Amino acid sequence: MPGRPQSQGSWSTTWIEVAGLYPRQVPENAPAAAPVSIPAELLPRDGRFGSGPSKIRPEQVEALVASGSTLLGTSHRQAPVRNLVRRVRTGLAELLGLPDGYEVVLGNGGSTAFWDVATFCLVERRSAHGAFGEFGSKFAAAAARAPFLEEPVVTTAAPGSVAVPGHADVDVYAWPQNETSTGAVAPVRRVAGSREQGALVVVDATSAAGGVAVDVAQTDVYYFAPQKSFASDGGLWLAAMSPAAIERAARLEAGRWVPESLSLTTAVTNSRLDQTLNTPAIATLLLLAEQVDWMLQNGGLPFAAGRSAASSGHVYAWAQARDWATPFVAEPEHRSPVVATIDFDPQVVEAATIARALRAHGVVDVEPYRKLGRNQLRIATYPAVDPRDALALTACIDHVVDQLV
Ligand SMILES: *Cc1c(COP(=O)(O)O)cnc(C)c1O
Repeated sequence: MPGRPQSQGSWSTTWIEVAGLYPRQVPENAPAAAPVSIPAELLPRDGRFGSGPSKIRPEQVEALVASGSTLLGTSHRQAPVRNLVRRVRTGLAELLGLPDGYEVVLGNGGSTAFWDVATFCLVERRSAHGAFGEFGSKFAAAAARAPFLEEPVVTTAAPGSVAVPGHADVDVYAWPQNETSTGAVAPVRRVAGSREQGALVVVDATSAAGGVAVDVAQTDVYYFAPQKSFASDGGLWLAAMSPAAIERAARLEAGRWVPESLSLTTAVTNSRLDQTLNTPAIATLLLLAEQVDWMLQNGGLPFAAGRSAASSGHVYAWAQARDWATPFVAEPEHRSPVVATIDFDPQVVEAATIARALRAHGVVDVEPYRKLGRNQLRIATYPAVDPRDALALTACIDHVVDQLV
């Protein structure tokens, strides 16, 4: 198609190039550092700080074990698993405070599959995207490659800041609430004039949902996957959908070929029956249901978001109080409550050395996003993470840096 950028698949490198960031080179003959040891009393009780898959609370796993032979290994078309899907759908509706008429829809394939679902079933002619990291860029790339759509309008910002699309001649506005690759959080607010033009607001909340406050009424589709703030395993997508979004999908699918596994209308039909089109991972659903119920029993989204804010608030304050550490996201209001990215002064310490020392002690997955290539640690502070463990983690980093310098 004329006028299209040549390398549609290159968004994920473009945003890195824009900022002039390239993977750091490790000198070939760097001396092997002596192993750093961390005293056991400093270590967090649970050393999982990964951004996804993320920490699953032991109580969730116990509930999985306790379910014995009642769910695992039984039909997803029968009452026990359908009741579990119902528990997930009603629990999420309550947790997210869904407005009247909104429905929780789910299907297989994770958020990545949902980009294709949305490209087929939600974008009518043209979409506008905010791209400020890997994930927002990927949805933009999916829309750019679709031969039945016009070239999307893409508003970009360098990693570490945010870009929300402005008003444009489009029928979908899309951006991530939390850019998990950089730790930047964007506002979730309808684009001015979008309602009048009948455009949908489609927000990728994969890592934000459940850990960051939101008014879902500001969106038509608020979609996510369970392996981030919801402390489950991957492989599913879930979406809170407005009546307008459900109608849009039904109308587009009536006139456009859509592969059955990517049909949003088919997913809506199945979800209303507390089922999925094809077989879901039942363990994933159970771990998810347990986490949603845990959040609801402790005070709902304010509780969950409060825990994340306490943990990440500590990490940011700690970094600001160190000469050799700085929050990567310059603008405090864009600092993610659920994924804290911390830059280290390369003159003082290699973040990779810290990450290695931590990993040797069972404190894992604080390495930075692989394509960002900064001297950085990325620390997930999802609701499952105990704020006391975030404190312990920074004490461990202090200890490691003390030994290294
Ligand atoms: C992890 C993540 C994705 C991808 O999720 P999958 O379920 O692995 O496809 C998409 N968007 C955001 C914001 C993410 O954090």
